[in-house]
Amino acid sequence: MRNSTSQIPNPPTLNAIRRCPHCGVASPYLPVKWAGTTKGSDAAFASERHWGAFCCSSCGGVIVAMSNSTTYDADLLDRPDLVFPKTPSAADDIPEVARKFLQQAMDTIHAPDASAVMAGSSVDAMLKAKGLTEGSLYSRIDQALSNGILTQGMADWAHEVRLGSNRPRHADGDNPHVTEEEARQSVDFAEALGNFLFVLTARIQRGIEAAKAAED
Ligand SMILES: [Zn+2]
Repeated sequence: MRNSTSQIPNPPTLNAIRRCPHCGVASPYLPVKWAGTTKGSDAAFASERHWGAFCCSSCGGVIVAMSNSTTYDADLLDRPDLVFPKTPSAADDIPEVARKFLQQAMDTIHAPDASAVMAGSSVDAMLKAKGLTEGSLYSRIDQALSNGILTQGMADWAHEVRLGSNRPRHADGDNPHVTEEEARQSVDFAEALGNFLFVLTARIQRGIEAAKAAED
């Protein structure tokens, strides 16, 4: 790799990643496997870009990073313009309590029992943030359906997430564990519900405000 103004370890490591997107390990050690620069023949991609492929020491998964700057390694290692795959992250527009549960559900996907319980707690916290504070998660989901906050399909899925979180929580006698696939479905639903209830609304509100400001 090229020179840099800051101290680059040998081998250079990708430092911009909080958790490995493949295995979820925190502060992953990601030494470079390959690095180089590219240019496209299309005029839109004619300026040189700096790419690196980095390998997680825990799981061997490869993460690709790109920097529009080709001058300093630190730009690629510490401040890349693109990282693939991305580490899942709960959106800022989701209320604090629900967002923290959702982030923990995302971070523990390889410990599916923990992840499923956190996804259930996240859904519960989202419904509470919508003013449904009485009773259990079971009754909150049904209330959300009758209030028109959830559609029938979403309520059915929310009950699946609730059941998935109850199995490890109550050490279900017949079927206490959830699979990684089941946990992933619960996390996907909690994320989709957060997008539907909070992220989309906040984005639309910002759009309306921006349009108003442009008119003034
Ligand atoms: Zn990994």
